[in-house]
Amino acid sequence: MRVFSGSLATETNTFGPMPTGIASFRDRGYFAAGQHPDKMTFFSGPLWAARLRGQDRGWDLVEGMVAGAQPSGTTTRHAYETLREELLADLRAALPVDMVVLGLHGAMVADGYDDCEGDLLQRVRAIVGPDVVVGAELDPHSHLTPLMVAQADLLIAFKEYPHTDVLERALELVDLCAAMVEKKIAPVAALVDCEMAVTMHTSREPARGYVDRLQALEGKDGVLSISVAHGFPWGDVPEMGTKLLVYTDGDPAGAQALARTLADELIGMREALSVRYPDIDASLDEALAFDGGPVVLADGADNPGGGAAGDSTFILRRMVERGIRNAAIGPMWDPIAVRIAFEAGEGARLDLRIGGKISPMSGPPIDLHCTVKALHPDMVMTGLANTPVPLGDCALLEADGIEIVLITLRNQAMGTDVFTQLGCDLAAKKIIVVKSSQHFYASFSQVARHVIYVGAPGAVTLDLRTLPYRKARRPKWPLDATA
Ligand SMILES: [Zn+2]
Repeated sequence: MRVFSGSLATETNTFGPMPTGIASFRDRGYFAAGQHPDKMTFFSGPLWAARLRGQDRGWDLVEGMVAGAQPSGTTTRHAYETLREELLADLRAALPVDMVVLGLHGAMVADGYDDCEGDLLQRVRAIVGPDVVVGAELDPHSHLTPLMVAQADLLIAFKEYPHTDVLERALELVDLCAAMVEKKIAPVAALVDCEMAVTMHTSREPARGYVDRLQALEGKDGVLSISVAHGFPWGDVPEMGTKLLVYTDGDPAGAQALARTLADELIGMREALSVRYPDIDASLDEALAFDGGPVVLADGADNPGGGAAGDSTFILRRMVERGIRNAAIGPMWDPIAVRIAFEAGEGARLDLRIGGKISPMSGPPIDLHCTVKALHPDMVMTGLANTPVPLGDCALLEADGIEIVLITLRNQAMGTDVFTQLGCDLAAKKIIVVKSSQHFYASFSQVARHVIYVGAPGAVTLDLRTLPYRKARRPKWPLDATA
């Protein structure tokens, strides 16, 4: 069997303050055809799974470009078209192939393209024709459009949030695609739009039990695969929202009926899935009142993983103003302050202007008298599914009893080692503020005694009703009372 794999992925916050250009892909991870390293990266799950399966089964694997960017604002037309054409050229050069497995996101938006993945899959299909099996792994924060479903034979989204199951879902994808090439199965899809946008933290109920039930249904009674697209409400496109996708083996009516049933079940639990977001002061009060620590406060509104800058100062400022000590916050994206800290050197004391540089959504910068406690050139954090996350030069500062991690390459808190590699003793802290919506949970739940999801302002505002939608199809819960 001859297999082609590659990747083009980012999540686009159309309300985000910065465009996504070529440099954003090079920062997070860009590998030309045949150059992918000997370790899985976040969006190379299908390529990695094809390597593993191909070794066992004697597949002829052709590896095309792999490119993934940190979520940010709308991708430039130049970046999207340049990378798309590189991947398609790699595919043309690999022909003939029996199957194509791609690592995509599902919520990539570029200038002139509301549905980058639909556009890309349509072009892949045009190149390979109707008989080659085309599959892709998606992030569940996908818009999962009808065009994407129509152009691919199989789409499988991560089930877990935090997304710890990149490899498991990728192996399912390549196994089902290979079974289709071998004519052992004939997948048919049913897609149901839930006309809402929900958050599904699979770290707790009721999402945990729901996802467990989906997995129990797979592999029985002709059900091949079930994916939930939570949707990505910070992407203002017509297809934004939560969707259910079911594949059965040659049973379209069965797929449709199951997708409808599971969608209705999800709609019925949407209030219970909602996350409580106390405001900054209420969150700090709750943390201080908690008996013991550490208490982890998640600043999801400034989550770089959702397209925010990662340099907002709202929570840090309130901690300083309230005289809260024995706290840590990070990672804050401030390459300028990192540069100054490196110039000053470890142990130096100096005045530094931190954060608040990118847009009003980050708040004003904060001026602090800091001690440079540690410096780490080219630090790499442990990401989800054990994938490496480059952070560039990093610094640990201390001011007024608060330790602050500054990074050069924008990213959210995933592994606790974003703090501990710099010598920050997390277990001894009363409060740890992380720039992350939910991916922090996989690692930080091991040190946290309590977790609070903070309703701070920011580019990934948690109050969706304040977002100025123009394209998203309405009505949609929770935006509209009539949904
Ligand atoms: Zn996601």
